[in-house]
Parts: sequence; C-alpha cells; structure tokens
Amino acid sequence: MAGRGLGRGLLIQQRFIKPKKTMNKKSFQAVRGMRDILPDDQRYWEKVRRIIGKVAETYDFARIDTPILENVDLFVKGTGAFTDIVEKEMFALRTKGGDKLVLRPEFTPSVIRAYLENGLSRLPHPVKLYSVGPIFRYERPQKGRYRQSEQASFETIGEKDPVLDAQLIQLFFSISGELGLKRLVTQINSVGCPQCRPNYKKALLVFFRKIKNELCSDCQRRLKQNPLRLLDCKNEKCAQLTEDAPQVIDSLCGECHNHFKSVLEYLDELEIPYILNSRLVRGLDYYTKTVFEIWPEEKDGRQIALAGGGRYDGLVKLLGGRETQAVGFAIGLDRMIALMKERKIKAPSKARASVFLVQLGDLGKKKSLSLFEKLQKAGIKTATSFNRDRMTTQLKIANKLGSRFALILGQKEALDETIIVRDMISGIQEVVPMAKIINVLKKKIKSKLVVKRLV
Ligand code: AMP
Repeated sequence: MAGRGLGRGLLIQQRFIKPKKTMNKKSFQAVRGMRDILPDDQRYWEKVRRIIGKVAETYDFARIDTPILENVDLFVKGTGAFTDIVEKEMFALRTKGGDKLVLRPEFTPSVIRAYLENGLSRLPHPVKLYSVGPIFRYERPQKGRYRQSEQASFETIGEKDPVLDAQLIQLFFSISGELGLKRLVTQINSVGCPQCRPNYKKALLVFFRKIKNELCSDCQRRLKQNPLRLLDCKNEKCAQLTEDAPQVIDSLCGECHNHFKSVLEYLDELEIPYILNSRLVRGLDYYTKTVFEIWPEEKDGRQIALAGGGRYDGLVKLLGGRETQAVGFAIGLDRMIALMKERKIKAPSKARASVFLVQLGDLGKKKSLSLFEKLQKAGIKTATSFNRDRMTTQLKIANKLGSRFALILGQKEALDETIIVRDMISGIQEVVPMAKIINVLKKKIKSKLVVKRLV
C-alpha cells in the first residue's frame, strides 16, 4: 500500500538520465535545502558529535546505526499518516524492483524497527539506544530548516517510570552545558494516553466546530483527521483563534496526571528550567503522556527548537512488538551549531602539523614518501608539499602553516642517510642520522611543548 504522503512528497525516478547537451555549461549547485559542511566548519561538528557520544556513554546509551533508507510504510504507520512529516515532507523513491522507500525523516521508527528486528527486545530493559546521522524532510527551506539536517536521537525503551522522561531532559542539558550553551528553556506538556485523549479530542472538536469557517484550510482538514494538530498551527489567525481552546491538562486521567506531576517534580529537583505549554502537541501520532521541546531563551522572533521528543508508550506494539513503554527525543545538530556561532562559542581549530617535510630532487622526493609514513606511524603530525620543488617555496609554506620544525631531505642527505632539522623560529639547522630522526624529533617537540607551557 502506498503511503498517503507519497502523492505529495517527492518521487525520485530511478532511471538513467542522459546528460543533455545544454547541461555542459551549467554549473552545478547543491540540491535546494541541502548544504555542504566546509572544512572550516568541521571543528564545530566534530566537537558536537564528540560531546554527544561522550555524554551518551556516561548515561549508558549504546550506539545504533540504522540505514538511511527505510520502507515508506514504517513511517506511515509509525510516525502517522496524517502528520506533516508523512503527508508533505517525505523524500520517497521507488526502486527498480518496485519497493517504496524513503530517506528517513526521523529516527524513532527506524530504531524501534531495528530493536524488534534484531532481538534487542530480549535484552534486559530498559534498552537505551542512541543514533547520530542525517534526516531528510521536504520542507520549505529557510534559516535553521534544511531538507537534509543532522539529528542525534536517544531512545529509552521498556520503562514507564517518569524519572526517565526527566533524565532525557537532563541528558540534553549535560550536552548543551558541555558545549557552553546556556540560557535554554524546556517547554513541556502532556498529551495524555489512549484512555483520556479521546475525551480531550471531543472537547477540542466541540470548541473548533464553532469557529471552523475561520480556520485555515489545513486546520479545517486536520479537524477531521487529528484535531490536536490544530493547537500547533503556525498560521497567526489560527493561533489567535485557538488561544481559548480547552487545555489537555484538564482532561488527563489519574495515571497521566500523576505521571506528568512526577516528571515536573524531577525537573524541579534537577533545577532544570521549564515552561508549561498547553499548546505543545508535537504533531506526531505516537506520543503519549510527556512531550517536550528545548528552546533558546532569546526573544527575537527567530526562535526555533533545538530538540524535541516525548513518551511513546504505544509505538513498539504498533510496529509489531509487545506492549512496551518508551521515551525518546532528538537534538538538531545544525541548530545547536548555529546557536554556538551566534553566541560566539568557539570550537577548537585543528592542531597544526608541528613538522614540515621539505624534499629536493628526485631521490629526496622518493625517500620523503617513506619517511612521511614513518612520521605518521610515530604520531608526528607532518605537512608536506610534494608538488613543489624549490626549497624557498616549501619553507614559505612551512612558515605559513606555523610548523615548528622543517625536515630537509635533498639528494646529498638521501645518499648520506641523514636529514637536516631546521628550527623554524631560530633558523638553526642540524644534521641528524636518518635512523635517529624519530627519536630526535619527539624529544624536540616535547621540549618545545614544555617551554610553551612554562612561558
Ligand atoms: P523533530 O523530530 O521535528 O522534533 O526535530 C527535533 C530537532 O531536530 C528539532 O528541534 C530541530 O533542532 C531539528 N530539526 C528538525 N527538522 C529540521 C530541519 N528541517 N532542519 C534543521 N533542523 C531540524
């Protein structure tokens, strides 16, 4: 069965496309809504991914990587046929064999599929899994909203205790704290469970039917399919009209009420700042009880959530497993990095190569290749410029790169099995036997580091 979303999503035909003659002159650009992460930006990505991995380990999450492509029905069933993600935002494709696949628009259904398919459901619970990688959504591109973005997702499967909802929020604040991101706030709500939500939906329907004609066309359609979604409509008029809508808190059953109260008490205990937001419903079908988002505190109208998630006690069963409670959330890496830059938080630059290898003449070049490998193996970061031949040019490059030492290997040194070590600051040079070069360099680098630290 084709997912409902397929019709409106992007259909990529798997056909060989012959380049047209006119294409020869065209300069290619990245696909709309997708961007290149350039070398200079990689230090931010490395830092964020490293801290996410480190914090995930300390909270006892195990890494799982799932394929980027999944069957479309996984999201139609898991995320929900009437959600924006499935209705409008899927990058779907049909294989030559006729399978309907999709570039994953989020992690949770993929992780639950993998948990069920690989027998992780037989492990002691809770099973705590995390993933980092790209997601794809066919959204209208704008600042902070891309068609390919990267998320880190955390899923705690097999526990209903509200302490785990709070612990996920705490985990986010551990990551953001290590990144130096402060002034963030959690927005939180409960969307109830299959026992109490129908009552709330009824109350919403009564309220919205009275103002139906004033709602946007999307909301008029949602009214039939998923009235909760009207609460997070971005249309200004709808937002105004829904201000007096009934609040979910008033319809929660005893169990959901107590669960929510406990989550808030744990957050109080952890001194995590939060705002109750009765309009936060998070748009996906699978959420039960707690839903939350984490936002920067800035009030400049450009606010966008950094992370979001909630409890999904029904999803494992829906995807073919036993009744298993779970809670999870995802962090948007693109937005975390954008906020770090906005707030002038630095990421470490790449360590410089302390050594530059200058080679002269054919024999020097040949010997340099094997020496370069020896230096790498010894862990000495070395830069080279094998395509340059003149000594002055190569030394200029070494200077530009800020290398502390230059190794000069010419015809004479190659024949004598020696090498010249030049201190790039003092200009002093000494001839060292090739067999001793690694030890000599290690000592020199170490002593310069000590001096640097003492200065
Ligand atoms: P969601 O799965 O929509 O709750 O997204 C979780 C987080 O992923 C959001 O809070 C954003 O930080 C990030 N995110 C989601 N969609 C995009 C997008 N299109 N572009 C950039 N970041 C996104």
